[in-house]
Amino acid sequence: MECGATVKTYLLLKPPFVSEKKAIWDVIRSADLVAPYSSTNSLNLCNVQKYTALENLWKRGYYRPPWLWSAVEAIKAIKRMNITVMSDPVGAGHKRGPHNCGKCDHEIKETVKEFNITQDLHVLERQADCECKAVWQEVLKYDDLLFDSTIV
Ligand SMILES: [Zn+2]
Repeated sequence: MECGATVKTYLLLKPPFVSEKKAIWDVIRSADLVAPYSSTNSLNLCNVQKYTALENLWKRGYYRPPWLWSAVEAIKAIKRMNITVMSDPVGAGHKRGPHNCGKCDHEIKETVKEFNITQDLHVLERQADCECKAVWQEVLKYDDLLFDSTIV
């Protein structure tokens, strides 16, 4: 920009009524679309705040915060497009925040923080797998079918 200002774009991973798979696709596509206008992207992982419509959905079992695997997947894809992306995993590992199985959450959170500073994809690529990754992969398959199905 002429005045020297820079633009930071905030992307929200997994708003309500979107499947896990579509939520990942949405932030990757959005990062690509804003890339010409944005100097950096902040990937915000949706969490459940008190006294909100989202909390109401969550309490009734209609919403689950994003998996941390989804965040890692999205960050990797965005970075592979040569786009700067950072993510502060607020509330990671808590039931109201982005979470995996409970065992691997802390390590993934630390890995994402390290990536924020280094912007080095290897940091994420050498992230150790966890047995819950297979569960997440199944969620990606079936969660999408549920959201796209037509109620007759
Ligand atoms: Zn795990």
